[in-house]
Amino acid sequence: MSNIIDSNDKDALATAIRTLQTNPKMRNMGFAQSLVHQYIRSKGHGLMPYDLARPLSPKQKAWAIKLANGCLNNPVKEVKVDNTLQEQINKLRNDMTHNSFAQSLVKQFDSRGSLSPKQKDWVVKLVNEIGKPKAPKANKFTMQDFTSIVTLFKNALSKLKRPKITFVNNGTAFALKPSKDLQWVHVSAPEYGGNYYGKISVQDGTWVDGRNINQEVADFLNDFAKDPVAKSQEYGKRSGVCCFCHKCLDREESLEVGYGPVCAKNWGLPHSYRSNGKAVQGLYSR
Ligand SMILES: [Zn+2]
Repeated sequence: MSNIIDSNDKDALATAIRTLQTNPKMRNMGFAQSLVHQYIRSKGHGLMPYDLARPLSPKQKAWAIKLANGCLNNPVKEVKVDNTLQEQINKLRNDMTHNSFAQSLVKQFDSRGSLSPKQKDWVVKLVNEIGKPKAPKANKFTMQDFTSIVTLFKNALSKLKRPKITFVNNGTAFALKPSKDLQWVHVSAPEYGGNYYGKISVQDGTWVDGRNINQEVADFLNDFAKDPVAKSQEYGKRSGVCCFCHKCLDREESLEVGYGPVCAKNWGLPHSYRSNGKAVQGLYSR
């Protein structure tokens, strides 16, 4: 197809700019936009200070005409907006509660004015789900009632701002700590961005699987919940590390109990305060 704007024509540039300005593709044509803007400024119409304006160079002029001809040779089909779909999209837009899939549908609709039949089906499905409580997904493993763990944290929260319990089990470290809103006790790897195993509801002690839940962690938590006090003692005696402060137990009486007197006080746990406890430094090291 031949070019529509003849670059030798004396109004070629003005025609090209007009073509680019009115072309619906312009949104996505950063380079064409910059040419249009410079042209407008050079004519003294823009908001830019006049002294920054410079006319298009011969090269830029040639580009403007080339791009305009490209637009004229490949006219964009008129976008017909589906009104029913638009309404549904707006509902999704207003209710985008962390649903990245819904977000992407909205984005695609905004740029294309329509969606594929499959995507439309999804929009209807997602709109119908708005406001409905989600059915809880079944946990991968059988988890017992974790109220005992919640109680442990409730006690600690009267003394500590950020109570945390850390275990190392078969070389895997994981920590239990309350969420900021204190509605959950999260179980995850201690490091930021590490494995996430799940959470315990503070309200009723039920468990919700996280993406990395596995049999070992599930077994450990189920065992721990049977008697958190006795199990934390067992853990301390076995590992030589206090699960509440993650420090080595370096005194005889602390080793005997399984945690130190400070943690006992903070977490409301039984402990005998024998004075002159003999230090056993060097026995355990992390
Ligand atoms: Zn401790």
